[in-house]
Amino acid sequence: MSSVITAPNSSTDSAAPPQSRVRATSQRRSVSSRIYLPALSIVAVAVVLLAIGLSSRWGGTSFAASITNLRVVIVGPVTVAILVLFLVIERLRPAQRRSFFARGYRQDVLYTLLNATLVVPLVVALSLSFAEVATKTLPWIVLPRIGFLPRWFVIAFIFVAMDACNWTAHLANHRVRMLWRFHELHHSQEDMSVLTVFRTHPLIHVSYLITLIPGIILVANGAVTTTLLVVYAAVVAFEHSNTNLSFGPLNRIFCSPNYHRIHHRVEGRQDVNLGFALTIWDQLSGRAVFPTKETIRIDTGLPGRPLAVEQSAPRARHFSVLVAQLLGPFRPLDAPPETETDRLAVLSFDNEVRDRTRAGFDTFDSRPMTLNNRGTPRG
Ligand SMILES: [Zn+2]
Ligand SMILES: [Zn+2]
Repeated sequence: MSSVITAPNSSTDSAAPPQSRVRATSQRRSVSSRIYLPALSIVAVAVVLLAIGLSSRWGGTSFAASITNLRVVIVGPVTVAILVLFLVIERLRPAQRRSFFARGYRQDVLYTLLNATLVVPLVVALSLSFAEVATKTLPWIVLPRIGFLPRWFVIAFIFVAMDACNWTAHLANHRVRMLWRFHELHHSQEDMSVLTVFRTHPLIHVSYLITLIPGIILVANGAVTTTLLVVYAAVVAFEHSNTNLSFGPLNRIFCSPNYHRIHHRVEGRQDVNLGFALTIWDQLSGRAVFPTKETIRIDTGLPGRPLAVEQSAPRARHFSVLVAQLLGPFRPLDAPPETETDRLAVLSFDNEVRDRTRAGFDTFDSRPMTLNNRGTPRG
């Protein structure tokens, strides 16, 4: 009010706030036309966590030893042997016939290498930082040693609770658009294989940090062993394999490849069969869809290919697709496909017949591509 009284040029001054608001709004619109701003929140959470972890020297835990442990779980000799065994099984009993050199397989090899090199240190740093924040801010959640609890019971409990947390985070990945933008990369795979388990955005691990909570609560009573984590990782990898296999009555407990394939189907709801190792959470929430003859060979991927995929253009362009996929969560809403790969995908429809003749070796597939880039969670 005082500015209205004292300023001689009051009309200009009183108009200034609306003008600045208009300018701010137009700047915001201009920025959001180039970038999906909510995706930056996950970057911010990661940066804050890493800063806390670094300043607390990772809560006194050896960073190098933790990296070694996680690397053993992800790409240790036992895990690699298990993955090779699964790769053989999926060749012997495939759900869908695919070349050994299918583009999706090649792309997922890149994700495997990315996980083994850059993602492991990132996940270790985030995990140690999250544990430090949780134990410092909520020290009462850590239970004291309970003498009468057998160690095997504690470990089994952590395993089941960890799986429940994974299920909850996975549900959030499907229900919250910002998280879906990171999770859709995992669902973009059209050539499923064991290695699809590695096809995840590095930053999506922020949403799975809640999985550490059961271990933090029960840390004084026993910890999940590396062996158990290898088994857990193997179960999750196997359900992504291109294997035609159900577990019969055990489907009521464990996720099979035929069960998880329904979660990746291109047509129909994808917010079903969210389980990592156990199907019980899906059954309890009415989200379990058990496999039938019709679901075994269903196509996987995202309808309309909102995210760049390696199968969409006459040439695979694995590295440029990788970059486009990793930057995908930050692309603005309603933006037309801008990458060279996407442009080629749109232009390549009339080349379909010619390229399908090569499909025995390659997996070019000119599925219709929409310009819908909204990143709406599938549900
Ligand atoms: Zn999912
Ligand atoms: Zn999956």
